[in-house]
Amino acid sequence: MLREEDVIFRSNGSVRKRTKAPPPESGKKYRPMGDIMRTAKPVCPVNEDYYSYIRCEQCRSGEREDELVLCDRCDMGYHLYCLRPIAVRVPVGPWFCPSCTGGRTVRRFPQLQKMIVDFFRIQQLTNAPEDEELRAFHSEVRKRRRRSMPLVRHKKMRRILPFTPSKDPKQRLEQMCSLATALTALQMEFCNDLTYMPGMAPRSANKAIYEKGGMQLLAKKDKETLEICRTMYRRGECPPLVVVFDACEGFTVQADKDIKDMTFITEYTGDVDYLEKREDDDCDSMMTLLLATKTSQSLVVCPDKRGNIACFISGINNYTLEGRKKQNLKCVRYNVDGECRVLLVACRDITRGERLYYDYNGYEQEYPTEHFF
Ligand SMILES: [Zn+2]
Ligand SMILES: [Zn+2]
Repeated sequence: MLREEDVIFRSNGSVRKRTKAPPPESGKKYRPMGDIMRTAKPVCPVNEDYYSYIRCEQCRSGEREDELVLCDRCDMGYHLYCLRPIAVRVPVGPWFCPSCTGGRTVRRFPQLQKMIVDFFRIQQLTNAPEDEELRAFHSEVRKRRRRSMPLVRHKKMRRILPFTPSKDPKQRLEQMCSLATALTALQMEFCNDLTYMPGMAPRSANKAIYEKGGMQLLAKKDKETLEICRTMYRRGECPPLVVVFDACEGFTVQADKDIKDMTFITEYTGDVDYLEKREDDDCDSMMTLLLATKTSQSLVVCPDKRGNIACFISGINNYTLEGRKKQNLKCVRYNVDGECRVLLVACRDITRGERLYYDYNGYEQEYPTEHFF
């Protein structure tokens, strides 16, 4: 007898997980072929029964059925955790298994300067990244440091530093090429700003004053840093990062140069939408933008069609000490000219080759209350 909760419902081409696993089959695992032939029923149209014998094609086990996904083409099953890269949850839309998609092959973006310039809408490619503005910024910081300041006060006044692009133009081209590769693989467009699309939340909905408990203001000096970084980006002076494809984690981001603590890494960008409308969304890289007192006013950033390097940065497992140790970025939401913005900033020194991680669930605790208004 098949209980209702054992059935996999398939509606609108989507795969739903089972809510409860059936009791384990007792007795022998294998039956003689003759036995099977004698009792075999003629091939019948696919019904709910068909889906109750699903095994994972990778590990051959049928256990943990709630974590098995079925291919919408061949009906083969896979555990979410047996897939490479691992799938975080059951996909909402149609899903095709590795053999139906021919494995995941990432086509490299052509490493041609002109194509990179077009892709990132670079306005004027420069060959000398350390420009006047950045140099002036660093000399000012050095001057400030020399003035002896009590440690406590110094800590409190820590400023966000602009990133320092790699000096070698070829290396920068490679970094941008790796990002273009990842974005095109996900059919995304590059966008370094929050975007407001028709039918989604309008820009006027992004108001920091709606934030429950208030949102910290980005200090004037830090706003300048943000501007310096944005200007650099428009000139093709990107942060020293590369996007790498990891068979297990999918796309991840690595430092391509040593990065100092407190360095601005990137803003989190994408389409802004109401949280309410996205609650059942499949977009794994959705980011909270505004947690309003009125929940209908809460906003999220959805980098499913447009975005930048931020959506490829990995999250730590904040349940384990090992996971927490990996964290090298913090994600903070700020009030910038009355609007909410999400910034990723280094929270310790990062060495070249290190993978970038932040805590997907950790930003709520980052609020220094002294900035509340
Ligand atoms: Zn498996
Ligand atoms: Zn398949």
